[in-house]
Amino acid sequence: MVTFNDFSLREELTSAVSEMGFKTPTPIQEKVIPHLLSQPKDIIGLAQTGTGKTAAFGLPLLHNIDVAHKEVQALVLSPTRELCMQIETEFQKYGQHMHGLNVTAVYGGVPIGGQIRNLKRGSQVVVATPGRLIDLLERKAISLEEVTHVVLDEADEMLNMGFRDDIEFILKSTLAREYTWLFSATMSNDVRRIAKRFMKDWDEFAVAAENTTNENIDHQYYITNHHNRFEALKRLLDFAPGIYGIIFTRTKNDAQEVAERLMRLGYHVSPLHGDMDQKMRSKVMERFKNKTLQAIVATDVAARGIDVNDISHVINYELPDDPEVYTHRSGRTARAGKSGICMSIVSPREIGGIRQIERIVKSKFHRSDIPDGAEVIRKRLFFHLEQIENAEPQDNFAEVYLSTIHERFDDMDKDELIRRLIWLQLKETIDNYADAKDLNAGYDGDRKSDKKDNVRLFMNLGKKDGLTTPVKLLEFLTGATDIEPNLIQRITIRDLSSFYNVPVNAAEFIISAMGKVKYKGRRVRIEEADQKSRDNNRGYNSNKGPRNGKSSQRTERKHFSRNSDGKKSYKRR
Ligand code: AMP
Repeated sequence: MVTFNDFSLREELTSAVSEMGFKTPTPIQEKVIPHLLSQPKDIIGLAQTGTGKTAAFGLPLLHNIDVAHKEVQALVLSPTRELCMQIETEFQKYGQHMHGLNVTAVYGGVPIGGQIRNLKRGSQVVVATPGRLIDLLERKAISLEEVTHVVLDEADEMLNMGFRDDIEFILKSTLAREYTWLFSATMSNDVRRIAKRFMKDWDEFAVAAENTTNENIDHQYYITNHHNRFEALKRLLDFAPGIYGIIFTRTKNDAQEVAERLMRLGYHVSPLHGDMDQKMRSKVMERFKNKTLQAIVATDVAARGIDVNDISHVINYELPDDPEVYTHRSGRTARAGKSGICMSIVSPREIGGIRQIERIVKSKFHRSDIPDGAEVIRKRLFFHLEQIENAEPQDNFAEVYLSTIHERFDDMDKDELIRRLIWLQLKETIDNYADAKDLNAGYDGDRKSDKKDNVRLFMNLGKKDGLTTPVKLLEFLTGATDIEPNLIQRITIRDLSSFYNVPVNAAEFIISAMGKVKYKGRRVRIEEADQKSRDNNRGYNSNKGPRNGKSSQRTERKHFSRNSDGKKSYKRR
């Protein structure tokens, strides 16, 4: 396995990288770093944020710096101030042992005076947004005369943001430029045009399958009517306890409004958009980084600089206008080898947008049902159970109170105590979901293919048999078989029967394993729900008869209807 020691980087850099905990180079680093060190020339790197591209260009860049010489030798252009600050911080870490190295970031939105003073120290490396750099050039506060290396980072973004003229001006102003390294998530025509004009004989490096990050992303979409969008968002948030995410909106107003509504309801979220001043935005980022916030509601531009590695969910409150933007959003999750979920809330009319994005991302999106109240409650229950299981209380925590606690609950048995503790945890959710409506919009276009993964089972036990809650039903099933509780989804309990979804490959196992089980003296009978309905329609009551996936789905849909209150139900005739 390749390590950073295999590259001929100067020792100060290898030791810094090792202290930073980088063990093995990421794919883009493995391709780019040795290449730039052994045969320096222009390159194009196609890589998204999160692939380690900053070090891919940063390490070879710093390797070439003469620290004794106090002129700007390397220039990195980047689209946003957040990204500039991020690159500056990374570079400072890489260069921590290069004594005499000064890295300065210059970007708009803050007074220029401080940046001019910083530049006067003599910076060898400048990281800049194009606009602010031009401002500094006009004021003659910076000289690019000795710049030999120029990096265009997130070139596609800079062009999307209208920096073309500025970039061209800057490239023309760097007369001593020997090397231009362009990094971009996508290779648009605009990017190619810049390359053709300003770069010579470049080599291209792409990270596998265009971007490795998307490989670990589960792209899901949820169909709801436009007026239910906010409710759907709330429900998805509730269904993802422990979420650490970014919710994307199209406009600053939406970001503000959605965040405010969520905050009023007690969610730990905050807006992040360009109408907030830099101080406020930094504060939000700080709270997000230290996980005081579970999610931020952001516009695309504001979210660009978010450098957080462990985002669990990206939620598209609305799809972006430009399908390319989707990859930037989704790339916020599943960074640094982790996996992530990107959820999109769409109205039936927006399905076309999903198909378009699927083609760009080159992966199939999963249509998922917006969970119902029972599913949300169950999910949160299991989350709390897991939290309890994994809790590591301080050694002497509660020691002083233990005897009082014991005295107090001496008469209460363990089950009751657990029941009450869990009840307290879930009370609010249970109240909130007492009358939760079905938020799924009527759109059957692709239900067929997505439904293939799951099968709905019927069981001849219900509330009257004592299975009064989903938890009880789960306890019963998991007690009698080896099935994992989280494989059992969408539980509906009737008086005399119950229904639930399980993965197709688990269905046969459950049906045969449970067939041997007796419950309160009765033999348990489980069969596929659609089979059951079909048999009932035909007026016989066996589970014989040929069937295949397709016909069963058709039958299932036929019996899948909505009550007058909008709730889904399986009609058993
Ligand atoms: P980037 O794509 O440059 O924004 O990098 C994403 C994150 O991955 C940053 O926080 C880096 O510090 C981190 N990182 C970059 N390269 C490595 C590596 N080889 N090993 C571990 N972490 C890395």
